[in-house]
Amino acid sequence: MSKSVKISASILFDGWNEPMKDGAVIFEGSKITYAGTSEGSPKADTEYNTQTVMPGLWDCHIHYFGVKGASEEEWNLTHPITMSARAIFDAQADLRAGFTSVREVGGVGLKMREAIDDGTSIGPKIYSAGSPIGITAGHADAHTYPLDFVHSRAALLWGSLGPVDGPWEAVKAMRVQFREGADLIKIMGSGGVMSQRDSPHHQEFSDEELEAMVNEAQTKERVIASHTHGAAGIKAVLKAGIQTIEHGTWLDDELCDLMIEKDAILVPTIFIQQRLKEFGEQFGASMAVMDKIQEVAEKHKETMKLAYKKGVQIACGTDIYSSGMDSMVPHGMNAKELSYYVEVGMSPLEALRTATAMGPKTLGPRAPKSGELKVGYDADIVCLSTDPFRDITSIEDRKNIIGVFKMGNLDVNNGIV
Ligand SMILES: [Zn+2]
Repeated sequence: MSKSVKISASILFDGWNEPMKDGAVIFEGSKITYAGTSEGSPKADTEYNTQTVMPGLWDCHIHYFGVKGASEEEWNLTHPITMSARAIFDAQADLRAGFTSVREVGGVGLKMREAIDDGTSIGPKIYSAGSPIGITAGHADAHTYPLDFVHSRAALLWGSLGPVDGPWEAVKAMRVQFREGADLIKIMGSGGVMSQRDSPHHQEFSDEELEAMVNEAQTKERVIASHTHGAAGIKAVLKAGIQTIEHGTWLDDELCDLMIEKDAILVPTIFIQQRLKEFGEQFGASMAVMDKIQEVAEKHKETMKLAYKKGVQIACGTDIYSSGMDSMVPHGMNAKELSYYVEVGMSPLEALRTATAMGPKTLGPRAPKSGELKVGYDADIVCLSTDPFRDITSIEDRKNIIGVFKMGNLDVNNGIV
């Protein structure tokens, strides 16, 4: 029988409800067996004390790419082994920042996670889409490279097809990712910022292609996450039945209503927009990219205010992808996103929910029992030396994250007693 562990805390946040004073959570092996008041709670084999205990956090939009900056050259010419070797440290940084689960919407995490799951390295649980799927000349294409190079690069990185066109090619690209073990599908529903020659305002996949992909995803019980900035793309993917909108920059009143009607979730990614605006040029972003980012970063925060006010469901996502603290959007800074949510109007409680109970919902039918301190749920737990309800920014500082348990293992011990 596995030994039981109890964590008592002045503040217990279960992932959804108002925080409880003097709470305790107990787990045996990888599952939670008790969460509630400390008084009257059962004894355990090992006991810890902390200021705040809460569920391990979720970042619902990250990438493990193992690159440092924002140049198309670096993205396309970095060797996959170099990318993975760096990304293993990025995974550690995420976990140390209190993020026990990440939804990787494109990247090398799908294969890298095997080294985490077998205990070789530490890192969060990675729920991955593998290769993002997009059209020729779209956001998943590399516009300044020969097309046959782009296809062979995709094959090397992901066993994937590269840019696809037409309903059946799009469906085949999804099936290739299912074959590789993808937990969800990532598509490019509109143009992007970091790609050279497409516009965030344009819809990318056609209605016909979207319909075919949504049918395939439903049959295989996977969620589709759609990178979508412009109104045309957002409307098209929502109408097709896509469940999560990544970025959602030009959501307006009508589109917020449509999101609510369709029960869709917004994954905002304010962090990357702000970092790109500030540091993009320094990290090799082209002038074409910098022009787009000025427009997107400004609009994005405004839209978040609207989406929050209208009551759109929001899950935390940063779009962090780069390696090392001296890089463009560093892994380990994930909690900064929550401070932005408070800045646009959320209470600390509402912001924390986006990274706890809301996280698994972005995986639809494949949602694990995680993100909440509840009996039977995964023992993914973060212990803080501070009160995040008083100061949300206190989670950004890693020295305040004194213990991180993933599936009941104390993977990060930073002074918990
Ligand atoms: Zn992204």
